[in-house]
Amino acid sequence: MKMKILEIIIIVGIFVLFYRVLFDLFAYIKGLVISKPQKLEKKTFYCLGILLIFIAVGLFYFDKKMILLLRAVIFIAVSVLILFILIELILSLFSVSYLKSKKQTIIDSADNKSFTISNGMKKTQYYWNEIQDIKFDKEPFRLTIFAKRKLTFDEKTQNRYLLLKHIPLGFSSFDYTYRDSFFVNLKPCIVCGTIALQDDECLLCGCVSWSADLEKNYSSYEEYIIENQLDIFATIDENEKFNNFKINDKNFDSDPNWKPKVTKEEVLAFSKKEYWDWEEE
Ligand SMILES: [Zn+2]
Repeated sequence: MKMKILEIIIIVGIFVLFYRVLFDLFAYIKGLVISKPQKLEKKTFYCLGILLIFIAVGLFYFDKKMILLLRAVIFIAVSVLILFILIELILSLFSVSYLKSKKQTIIDSADNKSFTISNGMKKTQYYWNEIQDIKFDKEPFRLTIFAKRKLTFDEKTQNRYLLLKHIPLGFSSFDYTYRDSFFVNLKPCIVCGTIALQDDECLLCGCVSWSADLEKNYSSYEEYIIENQLDIFATIDENEKFNNFKINDKNFDSDPNWKPKVTKEEVLAFSKKEYWDWEEE
């Protein structure tokens, strides 16, 4: 069987384009399933167009033997694709069960009557008067609450300080003196404007007071503050609304006297440069 160059180009072209289009479609569908939708790029549609043209040309141009070869190529392509989808499916099933076991606990709300925690999709409300006892280890953070079952909150628990703040009087094992002095001794963070500076580090944004260590990397504290503010208040994509220098945090109060050293325009210009543009690659 003689193969002309044009025939080889068409066969290889169909194979390559077929994969390109299907991989893109697969990523798109996967994005919908894990609720992280991605845009279908224009390139995918161009590839689909060229693929259809290639197949049409192949069908008109090829003789019987070549059409058989074309069918074989498509058959192999589809088989490999099905295998790939099966492997992906098995892997994603594993990662879902892995994620389930590592679900993050979030304190949704807390006041002097009750608190609500969410764990994945599940939300549970507990009343303080149902709690038998509370134990607290400071370093590392570990709060154990003895309810109908034992609840443990550690450094991975989101809004753990909100919960700590609202523990009412009356639990004999809980160290109220430590808790109260902890909150009283927090100072405003000059970088993010939240009253969350413990010793020399902000518990919210992680920024630190000026030190010899920082001096090695920054020419001034001003430069350090500006660089971190640009990053903290940046928007991750173009459609995200700018928070107007207000951090949405339930743990700590914000300092009413704080003023940012950067402007909204500077933050948005920084965001565009650092975060928005990479998607267009
Ligand atoms: Zn801060």
